Amino acid sequence: MSASAGSESVFDVIVVGGGLMGSAAAWRLASDGRSVLVLEQFTPGHVYGSSHSHSRIIRLAYGSDDYVALARASYARWRDLEADAGEPLMELCGGLDLGMPDAEYVDEIRDCYVRNGIPHEMMDRGEIVARFPQFRLPDGMRGVYQPDYALLAADDAVAAFGRVAREHGAVFRYEEPVTGIIPGNGSVTVRTAQGTYTGSRVILAAGAWMGQMLGSLGLDLPLYVRKEFLVYSRVTDPEAFLPGRFPLVIHRFPGNLSLGSFFPSFRHEGVKSLIDRLGKVIDPDGGDISVDAEPLEMVRTYTMEMLPQATGEILWTGACRYTMTPDEDFILDRFPGSPEIIVASPCSGHGFKFGPVIGDILANLATGAEIGHDISRFRIDRPALSQPHPVELVV
Ligand SMILES: Cc1cc2nc3c(=O)[nH]c(=O)nc-3n(C[C@H](O)[C@H](O)[C@H](O)COP(=O)(O)OP(=O)(O)OC[C@H]3O[C@@H](n4cnc5c(N)ncnc54)[C@H](O)[C@@H]3O)c2cc1C
Repeated sequence: MSASAGSESVFDVIVVGGGLMGSAAAWRLASDGRSVLVLEQFTPGHVYGSSHSHSRIIRLAYGSDDYVALARASYARWRDLEADAGEPLMELCGGLDLGMPDAEYVDEIRDCYVRNGIPHEMMDRGEIVARFPQFRLPDGMRGVYQPDYALLAADDAVAAFGRVAREHGAVFRYEEPVTGIIPGNGSVTVRTAQGTYTGSRVILAAGAWMGQMLGSLGLDLPLYVRKEFLVYSRVTDPEAFLPGRFPLVIHRFPGNLSLGSFFPSFRHEGVKSLIDRLGKVIDPDGGDISVDAEPLEMVRTYTMEMLPQATGEILWTGACRYTMTPDEDFILDRFPGSPEIIVASPCSGHGFKFGPVIGDILANLATGAEIGHDISRFRIDRPALSQPHPVELVV
């Protein structure tokens, strides 16, 4: 099919959402010679979704072999994007998973590293602080270090996917919200205020708006959206927090699912930290990107406790959105009863690293090609998604 412009254009694939996942799918599809239209409701690089700011983590540190296999494939595909875009987007810096002695996940990650032949080092508190004197850690803390942990340049990566997709022929239309998706006769009609478009296939990559978009198609899934916060803090010796000297860190707290994270200074000033799952459950349409005082103070205090060089001065802070499933696994599947619609909800706070591979998976789901990866965990009909929406999370 041809990618002609106009109000009744026909495309091989229409992608709803020009964030990370939609742009990655467009890159893969356009690279393969498909005609692709991406419809995005906001401007490029907007701050209302899940993919903005300087950095994200890519790691092999999972407890399950299927996630490790996806992560391994993703490292290679990020290098492919760098080659196509002609710019560096991933920087290896090593990373630590930290926990107290009874933190089972540290052992789960170690066991997974062992099963998959991944180099790693178990470290006690003394060994961690000897190698990384930037930390002040509680007695008994231990960790597992893995050298392949890397930083991804988040804003630059989304922009690069979009740019190379356009170079391969994809059409991106910004500030054009999709208002209707109508499947029928082996194709899908997509409506916006500006036009009506037809795609042989449609990929829904609507991030925080996925729950309501699926709802408009008659499918009610227990997705909810949480506001998250990023905090950049001043440190007394900035050189000590550059990649190569300071690792990425994921720290799980006893008794809850929150993760504390630290990032080296990477294309920004100061050390970046966050504690996730502190924010409110929000309505994505509310446009709420304010940073709430209480969680900000918790992250500021936590950063000063863990990093004695943090002065307490906040250099920058911003909000971002997690779209959560109850089991924290993604949704990557065809819409039940309408296989021409592909559903992509890869967040729950950990989708970025897989961006280029998820783009491949979405493209393959759309074109009917071999998927090439085990995506059984991400089925839309799995039991975890048939639970009722938790009442306290309905906004
Ligand atoms: C604070 C934070 C830290 C994170 N850290 C990590 C990390 O270290 N490592 C990691 O792997 N992952 C991480 N993640 C998760 C990762 O960022 C997400 O998995 C990823 O960004 C999701 O991309 P997406 O394309 O699904 O969503 P988005 O990038 O938000 O894209 C969805 C797009 O759809 C558009 N849209 C919605 N509705 C419509 C409509 N009707 N019409 C047109 N357009 C529409 C939206 O405007 C938006 O641009 C983090 C997330 C957050 C918030």
